[in-house]
Amino acid sequence: MATITLNPGKERPVQQRHPWIFSGAIARVQGYVGRGDAVEVCAASGEWLARGTWSSGSQIRARLFSWDADEPIDEALLRRRLARAIAAREWLGYTGDDIACRLVFAESDGLPGLIVDRYGAYLVVQLLTQGMAARADMVAGLLAELARPRGIYERSDAEVREKEGLPPGEGLLWGEAPPEQIRARQPGGLAMLADLRAGQKTGAYLDQAHNRLRVASYCAGREVLDCFCYSGGFAIAAARAGAAHVLAADSSAPALEMLRANLAANEQAGVEPVEADVFKLLRQYRHEGRQFDVVILDPPKFAHAQAQLERATRGYKDINLIAMQLLRPGGVLATFSCSGLVSADLFQKVVFGAALDARRDVQIVERLTQAPDHPVLLSFPEGEYLKGLVCRVA
Ligand code: SAH
Repeated sequence: MATITLNPGKERPVQQRHPWIFSGAIARVQGYVGRGDAVEVCAASGEWLARGTWSSGSQIRARLFSWDADEPIDEALLRRRLARAIAAREWLGYTGDDIACRLVFAESDGLPGLIVDRYGAYLVVQLLTQGMAARADMVAGLLAELARPRGIYERSDAEVREKEGLPPGEGLLWGEAPPEQIRARQPGGLAMLADLRAGQKTGAYLDQAHNRLRVASYCAGREVLDCFCYSGGFAIAAARAGAAHVLAADSSAPALEMLRANLAANEQAGVEPVEADVFKLLRQYRHEGRQFDVVILDPPKFAHAQAQLERATRGYKDINLIAMQLLRPGGVLATFSCSGLVSADLFQKVVFGAALDARRDVQIVERLTQAPDHPVLLSFPEGEYLKGLVCRVA
C-alpha cells in the first residue's frame, strides 16, 4: 500500500481526527496509488497516523477512515460503520416502513464520500469520492443486507463528482427501480412525495424536516410567504398549523407540481403556488406595498467556492432586507443559509446588515440547524452547513 508523508507541522489535524488531507499538506507519496485506493498517512517524523482513500484529482487528496493501525478499509469496516449509522437513526426515532431520513451522512458517520437517504422502501445513494465510487458494489451489497430496501438508486451530485474527476453517477445500483413518485413520512407526520430520479438533491430536502415544524409554530392565523418553497415542506407545515394564507414561491415548475401533489397527499388547502424568481417577486411585492406576518427564506446554496463568498453574502443581504421590509410590525422572518462556506457568524452579520438598512429592530428568537439525522461530528465541524435564524422584526 502507498504511503503519504505529510509536511512538517501538518500532523496535528490528523491526530485530532480531522478526516481530510489537503494536497498542500503532502510532502511525498511513496509507492503506486490508484484512484480510490487505500493509503497510509505518516507524519514528517515517519510516525504512522491514519489510513484513508486516495482522490487523485481533488484538492482534498485523501479522506481518512481509520486512526487504528490494525483496522483495514475493507468490507468489515464498511459494514460496522453502516450498521452504526443505521442504528443511530433508529435510536433518533426515525422508524417505520414509510419513514424518510438520511441514513448515512458521510464524514459525520465515519464514511467520507457516502450519503444514503432512505425514502420508505428505497434508498438513494451518493458516491462522492473516488474511494467510495471504487467501492460502489460493496456499499450497495452491504446496504441491501443491513437496511433491507426494495431498491437502491444512485444520484451522485454531478458537481461534486466533477471535482473528484469522476463521471456523473446515476442509475439503479441494486434491486428494483423506484417508482416515479415515492410517498414517505417526515418527522411530524407530513407525508411528502419525492421524485428520487428527477427531483432536486436525492428527491427532497430532509435537512429541514424539523425546522418546518418549528417555523410552522409561528404561523397560526398569519399570512405567510414561503420563498424558495421547492415541493412545499414549509408551506404545507404552515398551512397545517393554521396559517390564514400561504403564498409559496419557486422558480421551478416541476417543484410546484410536486407541491400541488403534496397538498393533495396531505389533504391540505390554503397554499397558493407562485412560479417566480424570488429576487424579482420580493421587489414586486415591495413595490405593490404588500405585507406579510411571516416570511420564510430558504434559498439554494449561493456559495459553492470561496471566490463566490462576497457575491453570496450580497445575495443573502438583498433578500433578507426586502423580506424585512415586507413584514408587518412584530412579524417573523425565518431565514436560512445552506452554504457551508458561510459561517453562522457571517450569516448573522449579513442579517444584521439587512436589519440596519431596513431600519428595523430585529431579535433572534430561535437558532435552527440541520435535522438530527444530519449529525455533526466534533472532529469535523465542516459537517455543519445549515443555519437558520427565526427573527422577530419590530
Ligand atoms: N424550502 C425547500 C427547499 C428549498 S431548495 C424545502 O423545504 O423543501 C431551494 C429552491 O430554490 C429550489 O426549489 C429551487 O428551485 C429554488 N430556486 C433557486 N433559485 C431561485 C430563484 N431565483 N427564485 C425562486 N426559486 C429559486
